[in-house]
Amino acid sequence: MADDAATRLAAVRERIARAAARAGRRPEEITLIGVAKRKPAEAVAAAAAAGLTHAGENFVQEARVKIPRVAALLGPRAASLRWHFVGRLQTNKAKLAASLFDQVESLDRLELALALDRHAAAAGRTLDVLIQLNLCAEPQKGGVTPDELGELVLGVQKHAHLRLRGLMTVPAASADPEASRPIFARLRALRDTLCGRVSGLTLPELSMGMSADLEVAIEEGATSVRVGTALFGAREGT
Ligand SMILES: *Cc1c(COP(=O)(O)O)cnc(C)c1O
Repeated sequence: MADDAATRLAAVRERIARAAARAGRRPEEITLIGVAKRKPAEAVAAAAAAGLTHAGENFVQEARVKIPRVAALLGPRAASLRWHFVGRLQTNKAKLAASLFDQVESLDRLELALALDRHAAAAGRTLDVLIQLNLCAEPQKGGVTPDELGELVLGVQKHAHLRLRGLMTVPAASADPEASRPIFARLRALRDTLCGRVSGLTLPELSMGMSADLEVAIEEGATSVRVGTALFGAREGT
């Protein structure tokens, strides 16, 4: 199992390196986040032991059990693993999320920003956040529309315990990775436009691309890719 994790991690890193080379970018510019939803703590620990330094989760209740288990399995090495929350976040789970995660990538409303800031402050920490954009008009997905982005950015900036690092998006599922390209290009363009308009604003992070379309995302400027299946194998029920 450990060898398996190392082999899969090496294969994903190779895909990242090739895509980066094609795009004239350095592979170190791209952070690999291993999304471990519905996968056991042992799988995350094995990937971390093989060198994975960023892990992602979609469900707070699942993470609440898994993160301490991974830490117990890894021992002192757990300190170098950063946890990203990438799922839909209910406001009543903000307290737990603010204590479990280093970065929340799915911020999509002021009410949630307020709650995360308050709980991060109480825990004596600062939380990195990304604003999630819904660019495919899929109502079941989280994220703000481009029209709502400016206002949310200004609201988030007022919170001293949130550090706004960039934008995130999840395109509609498609068998063709090229279908994601306009969505990724759009996210980057929105970022560039906004940073040109709001003085002093920098949003260095673009979290986009998953197992099926990470190459396209890297070509379009992704600074992190969120990879589940390619790293941990197929999930039951999907
Ligand atoms: C599950 C998930 C991923 C990983 O998806 P794969 O296709 O398995 O790589 C990435 N981002 C989010 C938000 C997810 O929910």
